[in-house]
Amino acid sequence: MKLINHFVNGEHFKGQNANTVEVFNPATGDVTAEVALASQQETEEAIRIAAEALPAWSKTPPLKRARVMFKFKELLEANLDALAAMITSEHGKVLSDAKGEIARGLEVVEFACGIPQLLKGDYTEQVGTGIDSYSVRQPLGVCAGITPFNFPVMVPMWMFPMAIACGNTFVLKPSEKDPSASIFMAELLKEAGLPNGVFNVIQGDKTAVDTLLSDPRVSAVSFVGSTPIAEYVYRTGTHHGKRVQALGGAKNHLVVMPDADLDQAVDALMGAAYGSAGERCMAISVGVVVGDIADKLVEKLIARISELKVGNGMFNEPDMGPLVTNAHLEKVKGYIETGIKEGATLKADGRDTTVAEHKNGFFLGGCLFDHVTPDMTIYKEEIFGPVLSIVRVDDFDTAVKLINDHEFGNGVSLFTRDGHTAREFSSRIQVGMVGVNIPIPVPVAFHSFGGWKRSLFGDHYAYGPEGVRFYTHLKTVTTRWPTGNIGGAEFTMPVMK
Ligand code: NAD
Repeated sequence: MKLINHFVNGEHFKGQNANTVEVFNPATGDVTAEVALASQQETEEAIRIAAEALPAWSKTPPLKRARVMFKFKELLEANLDALAAMITSEHGKVLSDAKGEIARGLEVVEFACGIPQLLKGDYTEQVGTGIDSYSVRQPLGVCAGITPFNFPVMVPMWMFPMAIACGNTFVLKPSEKDPSASIFMAELLKEAGLPNGVFNVIQGDKTAVDTLLSDPRVSAVSFVGSTPIAEYVYRTGTHHGKRVQALGGAKNHLVVMPDADLDQAVDALMGAAYGSAGERCMAISVGVVVGDIADKLVEKLIARISELKVGNGMFNEPDMGPLVTNAHLEKVKGYIETGIKEGATLKADGRDTTVAEHKNGFFLGGCLFDHVTPDMTIYKEEIFGPVLSIVRVDDFDTAVKLINDHEFGNGVSLFTRDGHTAREFSSRIQVGMVGVNIPIPVPVAFHSFGGWKRSLFGDHYAYGPEGVRFYTHLKTVTTRWPTGNIGGAEFTMPVMK
C-alpha cells in the first residue's frame, strides 16, 4: 500500500510513527493509500527546521521572495492537470471544478508576487522638529496552517504564499483525507527555488495540531475547517500567545425576491447548492423565497435536480462527484432522516442515486427540502452535502432578520432587480461576504476572505491586504540626528514644540 509521508527541509520525510489512516478514492470506494500521522516529536522536528530557516529567509529581499512566487506560479500552471487529477482522485470533485480551485489559489500566488509593493512602509518627515518617523512591516516567524479536506490546494494557498512572501517560514498540516496535493505543492516550491526548510508539510491529526498550537517557536496559526475545531484552535492558540485566525463553518442563504428573474435564480441555486456536492464553505444551503413565488421556484428546482448528472469526477464532466468519505455520506443521510422527522417536505431525494460502474462510490444525488423552518436541525446546522433547504418568508425584513439571527455569517446572496433592495440588504446583513445576483461571492485575491459571527474567530481575514497584516508585525521607528545640545533630560510626555 502506498504511504503518503511528510515533507521537511526540502525532502520527503518518512516518519517513524506507526499510526496511519486510509485515503480513499471516493468515486470507487477503494483505499488508494495510507497517510502517515506525525507524532509530537516529528511535528517538533518540522517546527525546528522552519525555525532554523527563518533568519536567512526573513532577511531575503522581498523582490527575491517575489521571484520564487513568480516561478511557483509558472510551475503550477505547467502542472495544472496533474494537480487537478490528484484533487479529484482523493476529494471526488469534478475535474473542471478541481482546476477552478487551483485557479483561485493561483490568484493568491499572483497577489503575493507583488509583495515588494505590499510591504512598502510609510514615512513622515518632521513628525517633530528635526524628527522623522517610518513604519515597516516585518515577518512574524514560524507560521502554521491547518486546512480542511474540501479545498486541498486552494485553502493552503490562501495561507502559505502570503506567509512566505512576507518573510515567514511555514509548516502546513493538511487534511488527512486528501493529503497528496500538499506534497506536490512542496515539491513545486522547491523546484521554484524556495530554500529548504521555508515550507514544510506535516501529515497528521490532533496530535500534530496540538503540537503546532502549543510549541513556543510557532508565532501564528491560520486554520480553516469546521466551527467546533476553529473555536478550539483559536482558544488554544491564543492561550499559548499566538496570533490566530480560524475560519469555521457556514450556512449560506440565497434570498430570492419576487421581482428576481426566476430562471437566473434557479441557475444560481443549482450551481451553488450542488456544485462540488455541496462540500464548499460558500455553498448555498438555504434558499429564502420571499412572497408568492415559492411554488413556481420549487417546481423548477425539482425538474432541474432530476437532470443532475452524478458520476466519477475524473471522466465525462458530470455535474457532481461523490462525497469525500462513506462516513461523511452517512452523516449527510442522517440529516435527511432528521429533516423528514422534523416535518420538512423532501421534494427531491438523492439517496437512491447510483452510478453504474461505481457501486461502492460515496454518491448522493441532489436533495431538496421545502417548508423548512428556523427551529429545524437541518436549518440550524451545516450539512455539507448536496441538500438544499427552502424557507418561505412573507417579506424582505423577515428574510434579513432570519439571516442575521443565524449563528453563522460566512456568505450570503440576494437575487433582485431592485437597486434599493440590494443596497439595503448589503448594508443591513450581518454576513462577511455578500453577493448581489452572484451566488457564491468569494472575494478575489486582492480583497480578503472571511465570515462574521461563528464563521470566523480572530481579527484578520484570509489573504489579500488582510493576509499581509496577519503575517506581519508593524514597527514604527522615530529618528533624530541632533547636531548639538538636545536640551537636557525631559521628564514630561514629549509633545510637539
Ligand atoms: P475539520 O474541522 O474536521 O478539519 C479541519 C482540520 O482540522 C483538518 O486538518 C483536521 O485534521 C483538523 N482536525 C480535525 N479534528 C481535530 C481535532 N479534534 N483537533 C485538532 N485538529 C483537528 O473540517 P473538514 O471536515 O476537513 O472541512 C469541512 C469544514 O470546513 C466545513 O465546516 C466547512 O464549512 C469548513 N470550511 C470553512 C471555510 C471557510 O473559509 N470558512 C473554507 C473551507 C471549509
